Parts: sequence; C-alpha cells; structure tokens
Amino acid sequence: MTSWKCDKCGKKFDTKKEAEKHEKTCKTEKKEHITIRSIKDKWVALILALLVGWLGIHRFYVGKIGTGIVYFFTSGLFFMGVIVDVILILTDSFTDKSGAFLK
Ligand SMILES: [Zn+2]
Repeated sequence: MTSWKCDKCGKKFDTKKEAEKHEKTCKTEKKEHITIRSIKDKWVALILALLVGWLGIHRFYVGKIGTGIVYFFTSGLFFMGVIVDVILILTDSFTDKSGAFLK
C-alpha cells in the first residue's frame, strides 16, 4: 500500500490528495538534518574568553582574526563583547570563521 508523506513534518496520509492539501497548510519548517560542527572546542574558547577575552584571544582561536584585532584594541568592546561571547559559547551559539558551531 502506498502512503503519502508530508516532506516537512513527516505526517502520513492515505491519499495523495490529502497529503497535498496538508502540505499547503503545514506550518512545520523543514529541519536541517546536518549540523556542521567546528573542530574548535567550545570549552577552550570559553576559558580563553574568560581569561583573556578582553584581548580577543578566543576570537583568534576560532579564526575570527578581524574581530579579534578589534577586541584587542578596544578591550573586548569594553568588555561588553566578551560578555556576549561568553553567553554565546555557553548556549552553543558561538561559531568559528566558517560559521560552524563549536564542538
Ligand atoms: Zn506536514
């Protein structure tokens, strides 16, 4: 027996008509199956951010040289940038220069 499946949420239907009708109104966003992870370790980045974040060292570590230099000359955007980065690292939202999340 053929069953029809919604590409977005995976819900199954007996007829194509039902499935097509559902897909038009389906609110589920198609999820990314592959999450690209950086080879850089988030705990190393965190320790660097806490100890020498005001020098931008954690940004140099993940390859963000440009903003690393900015941090170096502005004491980590007057520490505000460091605080934001620490929060981003702890919430797994900090990325390396290629946009991959830290492991
Ligand atoms: Zn659906």
